[in-house]
Amino acid sequence: MGGTLDALKHLQEVERKLGELRGEEAVKRRQIQECERQLQKRDKNLEDQRSEIRRREAEIHSVELDVNSREQTIQKHRIALNQVKTNKDYAAILTTINTEKADTSKLESCALELMNVKDALRAAHDELVGERDKIEERRTRTEARLNAYLERTRSECAELTHERDEASAALPPTVMSTFDRAAERHDGEALAAVRKVNPKRDEFICAGCNMTVTLETINSLRTRDEVVQCSICGRILFLEE
Ligand SMILES: [Zn+2]
Repeated sequence: MGGTLDALKHLQEVERKLGELRGEEAVKRRQIQECERQLQKRDKNLEDQRSEIRRREAEIHSVELDVNSREQTIQKHRIALNQVKTNKDYAAILTTINTEKADTSKLESCALELMNVKDALRAAHDELVGERDKIEERRTRTEARLNAYLERTRSECAELTHERDEASAALPPTVMSTFDRAAERHDGEALAAVRKVNPKRDEFICAGCNMTVTLETINSLRTRDEVVQCSICGRILFLEE
């Protein structure tokens, strides 16, 4: 095992630890984003519910105005009733009053129905507010956890980043670009061990993709300190000790 491969293995280990730290951070950030998304959805629904409630309130108000004006009219007709001279006029006004009373009573039950609808809307609205509050609490808690996590891992992260920068600066740029390409292609896992398939035979595979590694490659790994990539997956190969 040569110095370059040792350095690459160290770099890979540092990258793996950094990746774990960032992965944990990303999970928390995604949870916060999910809370934000849910909050936005609830806010939109709450806004719709509020305008629906306002619409119902306006309807109730207008029905109530109608009822009031009809009651005033009935009152006027009652006064008129006391001043009529003939039975015919009396009967006519009484009929009008009764019709108006019936209409008013219809309007009153309409107002009652609207109030029931409004109350149901208000109850649904309040329930949604409760739901929204819980989501907001969850977001606040997750934010606090994220901040605590960042605080807790700050120095470790800085150390690892420094270590990574040092390790990569010590390697030749061509080796680094091969490493970076392989890491990008394989989710950060730029290196793969070479495994012997059968203890009795000289048959080897790349542990990254399980494809055969030639004896020529094995010899090259045993004798020279150079970067050899798996011809199938492109990972940088190393021999297991
Ligand atoms: Zn491979």
